[in-house]
Amino acid sequence: MSDLGVEPLRRVNSRGGLAPHLFVGFDSHLFSIDTSRSPKACVQPDAYLITHAHSDHYGKSAMLSQRALASKETARALEIRYDREYKGRTFEVGESVLIGDVEVRTYSTGHTIGATAFYWETEVGTRVLATGDVKDYSHLPRCDFLITEANYGDPWDPSCIFDDDLGGFFEALQSGASFGAYAFGKAQRAVALMRAMGYDGEIGMDEQSLALTRELMPEAGPLTEANGNGTNVVSPWNLYHLPGRNKYFLTGRRDTSYPTIRLSDHLDFRGLMKMFEHISPKEVLVYHPEGERANLLAHHLQQCGMETTALEQIEKYMR
Ligand SMILES: [Zn+2]
Repeated sequence: MSDLGVEPLRRVNSRGGLAPHLFVGFDSHLFSIDTSRSPKACVQPDAYLITHAHSDHYGKSAMLSQRALASKETARALEIRYDREYKGRTFEVGESVLIGDVEVRTYSTGHTIGATAFYWETEVGTRVLATGDVKDYSHLPRCDFLITEANYGDPWDPSCIFDDDLGGFFEALQSGASFGAYAFGKAQRAVALMRAMGYDGEIGMDEQSLALTRELMPEAGPLTEANGNGTNVVSPWNLYHLPGRNKYFLTGRRDTSYPTIRLSDHLDFRGLMKMFEHISPKEVLVYHPEGERANLLAHHLQQCGMETTALEQIEKYMR
């Protein structure tokens, strides 16, 4: 148990491995943060908090519990992505929700449409914030115990320092290019940017990107099924179906056969450090992604004098 009265825990699954992400115990409560659903025989949390609908946050499994809690957009995105019914409770980002007697406030993180950070206070007054993935920390409140991500948290890796290449994206858009973007998150970011940059023509999309964008972005402007003409935003593996050579993959990855334009859904390392300053927590738990990046960021924050734990260092387990 940390001095703040908040206890991170992990669940051991039936194969003896660890369930992804974590549980947080405080007072007489247990919240799950982006964790897969526990089998019926296991300890059940008061709520499965789902920060957003990316697959590495396990909403596909948690959405089937009546204890799931996700924004309306996240719940809808999960339904479209996985073709199953969301069984939990929903809210508008910015609203407060009661879980038992705990008031949970919700904040946008700008990572995907509907991406939510959850905030609550314990009986002894500890302010807890679980962010999920973050692109824009400016709306997040201060807290004492911060649970956050480290997707670009390696201080020594040059690829963790970047700016979005908005100039490159604008030039490509003007030249009539088509773009490869993951269907949930990046595709909607690309459409929003295209509209903000003044493009008001039709945008062609593949089936899943189109369904998600139509449903989640009422203000998306004219969209159509990708038909090989005009400007398209399609899943990266569908890029090769489009004619011509003027095609870009919107990613920070370098292992692709297409030219890339850097547009990220995440803060880079400098952004993460500014976020810590903005939120000024007493203690940090880096919970995502599992592995080296989280360990390196935790180590760096410790060196900066901030009490920090990475997911892999949690030693309290439950069945
Ligand atoms: Zn994500």
